[in-house]
Amino acid sequence: MPSPAPQPKPWIAAIAPYVPGRSTTDDGRRVRKISSNENPLGTSPQARAAFAAEAATLDRYPDAAAAELREAIAAKFGLDPARVIHGTGSDELLHLAAGAFAGVGDEVLYVRYGFSVYPIAARRVGAEPIEADDRDYATDVEALLARVGPRTRVVYLANPNNPTGTYTAREEVARIHAALPADCLFVVDQAYTEYLEPEDDDGALALAETAPNVLVTRTFSKIHGLAAERIGWAYGPAPVIEAMHKIRAPFNVSTAGQKAAIAALDADDFVKKSHDHNLLWRTWLEAEIAGLGNFGLRAVPSKANFLLVLFEGALTAEAAYHGLMERGLIVRWLPAQKLPHALRMTIGTEEEMRDLALALRELTAAAG
Ligand SMILES: *Cc1c(COP(=O)(O)O)cnc(C)c1O
Repeated sequence: MPSPAPQPKPWIAAIAPYVPGRSTTDDGRRVRKISSNENPLGTSPQARAAFAAEAATLDRYPDAAAAELREAIAAKFGLDPARVIHGTGSDELLHLAAGAFAGVGDEVLYVRYGFSVYPIAARRVGAEPIEADDRDYATDVEALLARVGPRTRVVYLANPNNPTGTYTAREEVARIHAALPADCLFVVDQAYTEYLEPEDDDGALALAETAPNVLVTRTFSKIHGLAAERIGWAYGPAPVIEAMHKIRAPFNVSTAGQKAAIAALDADDFVKKSHDHNLLWRTWLEAEIAGLGNFGLRAVPSKANFLLVLFEGALTAEAAYHGLMERGLIVRWLPAQKLPHALRMTIGTEEEMRDLALALRELTAAAG
């Protein structure tokens, strides 16, 4: 008889682990990684300098309240600093939202092909993840609202969404919010918001200013190029933020991370350069993919720093994934997210994009 051992709770056992983007090939070679939506331009010089300056303070705990960082965020976006909460990446904040507002017997709702952290955050606290039908990979407001029930405690919406890159327009976000019960927390995850065009404000931050049930999350990992330091923030009603503070880790963002993030908020030139680079090469790659339409390739319309490319012809996504890897390019293949027919490709450097397009042309031609 096997000896007794600690048993994870059933809802923990039910979690399908998060799969991070790879940085080495099957045979362990280090190659060009366009699999994790990182900034190909790196980090702003200001943020790097601020990070480096903290080497002398390694023996001291960081500011648990991240007061200076929260003040800087509030000043930048015209918010109340008391209602800004900092997180170990926005991932922690997404978990805190579920942790504070959902539990056993509750439901957590999101659109199919939503960010893969949402089901983990739901199950971690014993809640049931519910996936609403999409509309050609994008948010279907009616389908989402049709799944709202008396047990729905949290609704997550990534805007733009990862891994699809799709954008839910301001009117749709407003419609979702208007239809949700007031006791259901609406979490709008704006990890890629800086990649949008100015006219594409989805209105969620303004909603979070006044509504009692809207939380917006942001990150320094994507356009600010600070993924290694794990810094995110969220904004919402005071009682929501207060509940989340109770369960966050006390020293959840490092000192160097806080300083780097403060500096990053001032690096407007770097953010603009990153945005413009992304727009240019995303548009370019979209055209390249459209040129391979005869081979069954199709890019889902994206407003983020990546493209989800569907493979509906002779060349399968799996074969393309391995073919690209052999050519030194790692993209994201997503069978675990029910997208075995798709690859997510981060917009990288010009050289990476040209090599990627060339490789796709060769692979499609070879597959016939
Ligand atoms: C990358 C990403 C995040 C957050 O990442 P952190 O590094 O934890 O801040 C959150 N939501 C979506 C949709 C993402 O793609």
